Amino acid sequence: MAAMDKARQVLKQYYGYDHFRRGQEAIISQIMDGKDTLGMMPTGGGKSVCYQVPAMLLSGVTLVISPLISLMKDQVDTLANIGIPATYVNSSLNPAEIDERLAAASKGAYKLIYLAPERLEFPPFLHLLENINVSLIAVDEAHCISQWGHDFRPSYRLIEKLISQFKPKPVTLALTATATPQVKKDICRLLQIPEENTVATGFARENLHLQVVKGQDRDAFVLDYILKNANQSGIIYTATRKETERIYNFLVKNGIRAGKYHAGMKEAERDSFQDRFLYDDISVMVATSAFGMGIDKSNVRFVIHYNLPKNMEAYYQEAGRAGRDGEESDCILLFAPQDIHTQTFLIEQSANEDRKPGEYAKLRKMLDYCHTEGCFQQFILHYFGEKETQPCGKCGNCLDTRAKTDVTKEAQMVFSCVKRMQERFGKTMIAKVLAGSNDQKIRQFGFDKLSTFGIMKDKTQKEVAELIDFLTADGFLRAKDGTYPVLMLTKKAVEVLLSKKQVFRKESVRAQQIASDNL
Ligand code: ADP
Ligand code: ZN
Repeated sequence: MAAMDKARQVLKQYYGYDHFRRGQEAIISQIMDGKDTLGMMPTGGGKSVCYQVPAMLLSGVTLVISPLISLMKDQVDTLANIGIPATYVNSSLNPAEIDERLAAASKGAYKLIYLAPERLEFPPFLHLLENINVSLIAVDEAHCISQWGHDFRPSYRLIEKLISQFKPKPVTLALTATATPQVKKDICRLLQIPEENTVATGFARENLHLQVVKGQDRDAFVLDYILKNANQSGIIYTATRKETERIYNFLVKNGIRAGKYHAGMKEAERDSFQDRFLYDDISVMVATSAFGMGIDKSNVRFVIHYNLPKNMEAYYQEAGRAGRDGEESDCILLFAPQDIHTQTFLIEQSANEDRKPGEYAKLRKMLDYCHTEGCFQQFILHYFGEKETQPCGKCGNCLDTRAKTDVTKEAQMVFSCVKRMQERFGKTMIAKVLAGSNDQKIRQFGFDKLSTFGIMKDKTQKEVAELIDFLTADGFLRAKDGTYPVLMLTKKAVEVLLSKKQVFRKESVRAQQIASDNL
């Protein structure tokens, strides 16, 4: 029987599914042909099947490298329930247990072994693996291998050595749900996967309704949303543990069946809330980003980000936990400018010096997402390197029916001001010059002598700053990489200056309100 027919049979027999999903078939068929492969699929796309099905077809063992230690036991138990023999090796076991499992593995007791990458740091451990006949090495969360990714783990760099120690060389499958073009290149280079062996299903999630909400009382918004969507399952992400506690208490006080989850809680309490959420005993989980990795709850109907996430990768991964069952779901980001300080603070606290500029650049992209007036789904797809995309037709911006006004002239004023300030300043200074601020620094630099000084003085400095945010988000201005966000003109902006291109902006909410006040 052809390999793919056997694969379909395994899918039906063990999982009860009739068809492979998009991408799964292509990935599995490449593996069965012995090709090293990079699989890129969105969260919930069905990555596990891509190595579990081949594991059942190949003669030897499949090693699965995964950073999610806390989930390994669950994954292995789930496999046992459907009749697939698997085990795991991580720091929760003592040396005798590890020896025992690996000895059983060398006798062919398991089809899959889950490994924490940290194990690879102990040379004696690598030695123990030598007697095992390994057919496939699956690297889950493969973006962890790249410095450019948002979750770099040095131990992932040891995987290459692991692969090369087996003769004949096993097939390598790298899997990820978040990889920019740069990260993708890194994964292929570091795991020696030919780039043309990439299978990408595209990151678009048709059932997600992306939305950014600005300028609202966030507590009131969240409570109102939950009451309107009573008994729907959802997650509320916050930037800090303190916020998680506060919002959890607020919701419980208002009679919502909520749970909480963050790394500062006792494990037993955390696990208990997680289980109750998984079994729909509570409907809303308030959590930090510690919650959700690898959790397979299919009926999450909404993910609300109460605070600004640190970058687009984190955002899409967390938002993507909504709607894994394919049903329509909401992903709402509540934007408040003061959150920028929280994220800046967190970068200053955690990142080491040489990583900081990169973290700031990612944070700025996240802000661009909040300010864009284009399709949110398209913005995300562009970020992950997909070029040929269409507006989704269902996100907050696609459904925004406000009229567009021509702001080409204002945009030209901003661009020529940026140019005259020699593309060496950030948003605040540019806005001050345009609004004609009487700031001492402006005079120090002699900017009050520029022809663009005060040409927008009919607007407040805040309004000008908002216009600059919009122009940045829509790709007319770009921040030079670095800790301090210096704004420069892009090719698009130059075209506007040359009157080759127009700029349209949605009527501001305020203008709309005034209009409706007059009715
Ligand atoms: P990922 O790791 O990509 O986020 P999972 O491997 O956890 O996703 O799969 C997500 C969900 O999709 C799981 O509930 C899984 O059982 C289901 N699934 C995977 N493949 C199929 C398929 N071919 N048909 C139906 N459901 C599938
Ligand atoms: Zn859209």
